[in-house]
Amino acid sequence: MRTFTIAGILLCTLAWGNPQCYVEGYPGLVASADESALTLVNGTRLPYRTADAKTTWDEKINHADLAMQLTQRYDAGGSETPPPYLFDPGRLRYQPFFQALYGNDQKTIEKNLVTITWPTLKGSVKLPITKVGGVDKKLYAIGQEIAKLPKKERIWAEGAATYCYRVIKDTDRLSMHSFGIAIDLAPATTQYWKDEASAETAKIGYKNTMPLSIVRIFEKHGFIWGGRWYHYDTMHFEYRPELLAPSCVAKAH
Ligand SMILES: [Zn+2]
Repeated sequence: MRTFTIAGILLCTLAWGNPQCYVEGYPGLVASADESALTLVNGTRLPYRTADAKTTWDEKINHADLAMQLTQRYDAGGSETPPPYLFDPGRLRYQPFFQALYGNDQKTIEKNLVTITWPTLKGSVKLPITKVGGVDKKLYAIGQEIAKLPKKERIWAEGAATYCYRVIKDTDRLSMHSFGIAIDLAPATTQYWKDEASAETAKIGYKNTMPLSIVRIFEKHGFIWGGRWYHYDTMHFEYRPELLAPSCVAKAH
């Protein structure tokens, strides 16, 4: 059985995450990165750290920078374990990074969208997704692999929804669906932390019905799963290869 302690989380926080995770995770998009800045192939430079105060959880979630984006280690391939308190690997995000990659505004983002075929039990549907970094090809491959799963698992990939330009509920932060890099599955029957708690810092009980067979297919192709967050969103998957780059992947605890 895995146990997480506060000390363990702090150790992970201090020991894990480095600028190379971005270079490795986004070949062809991120040219170089070091402790001071990240440079995209198109010449855009982003600071690796910003000066905003980040003491409380709300400050961290609202003002994360590129360094902080990596501080919580994503446990790819892990079993279904309720995540520790305030442990949300991938949920801390530096929005200018996603805008620089996928588009600074809705119009630019939509120019980068293409549609892919997503198999369902009742035939195929078309889903809009960004072509930047080949995300469309990865999601297509995921759909093909899920289609080979037994029906009792596959049924959790029905009702898929991808692109939607919107902010995250009750926040000013853009949802990853706004960049065309996220997908929700079985939205009517999966679990969301806000259905159990009203505040970011409330104590929340964990619930999940998404099969790990589906989760592992997504993780293999660079997508993280919202079911590995303390603030769980078990329908949600997003393309975050910096958290899954070989040198940055969590070792089994
Ligand atoms: Zn989602």
